[in-house]
Amino acid sequence: MTTGGPGENRHRAKRSLGQNFLIDANLQRKIVRAVAADRDDVLVEIGPGRGALTRHLIGRTRRLVLIELDDLLAARLQDQYGDRADVDVIHADVLATDVMALSEPGARTHVVGNIPYNITTPILFHLLSRPRPADIVLMVQLEVAQRIVAASGTREYGALAVGVQSVAEVDLLFRVRRGAFRPVPRVDSAVVRVTPRSPCQLTPEEEARLRNLVRALFQWRRKQLAKTLRDHPDLGLDRDEVEAVAAAVGFDPSDRPENLSPEAFIRLASALP
Ligand code: SAM
Repeated sequence: MTTGGPGENRHRAKRSLGQNFLIDANLQRKIVRAVAADRDDVLVEIGPGRGALTRHLIGRTRRLVLIELDDLLAARLQDQYGDRADVDVIHADVLATDVMALSEPGARTHVVGNIPYNITTPILFHLLSRPRPADIVLMVQLEVAQRIVAASGTREYGALAVGVQSVAEVDLLFRVRRGAFRPVPRVDSAVVRVTPRSPCQLTPEEEARLRNLVRALFQWRRKQLAKTLRDHPDLGLDRDEVEAVAAAVGFDPSDRPENLSPEAFIRLASALP
């Protein structure tokens, strides 16, 4: 798909960069309203593309930082907004960018983006590395949104839900039908808000332990907790240790990981010998 009038460089949507542009103006405004940014704050937009959200974000905060990887679209954003003192266009891969370093010391920083679906999870965890923004509003594939907000005991619940919910509050705000984009994607979408807890109840070391535990337990998702705690190469507890942590944390060792709440995962990570 191409756009642009006569004399303008034409831009063809690149599937490799997850380019599905949001053309529904009501939805653009609805997403922007979900960002709780004030005049004194800094706002970072990931993947502004052709500016569907950007045009509603301009002037809302003291600074707006736009991070766009596509060469032509970054150049266009620079042409359009580069003269403004309150806008910075960063032509870069968000995953290789220290997003919080682009903010200002002491400023509340918010992140918003209609992001490429193939790198949703890496982007989310990149944004959840420390220090964390005040909040993150992202358009993601509906199925991924459901996995982010999933409750324990459901089919969608897994490492993604535990990883995000152990450090942040999560809300699925609304669904977005695929017809709101051009080109039309194969899947529906949803907007999620992720609000990191501040201060975070976990130390960086506890978080690293938790990540290791979650990865191991969900790698062996169908197995009983006791078996994975004993036999997984990254865990290796003995029988007595399994019984001791199960009693301390209050879980049934014959249960499966999808039935442990994020809070139980946190308690289990800190109870591990
Ligand atoms: N925000 C626009 C909208 O809503 O219409 C574009 C959304 S499109 C789904 C994703 C955007 O992210 C594209 O502009 C794409 O070029 C950009 N993008 C893809 N990978 C990126 C990366 N690693 N870092 C920064 N931007 C990226």
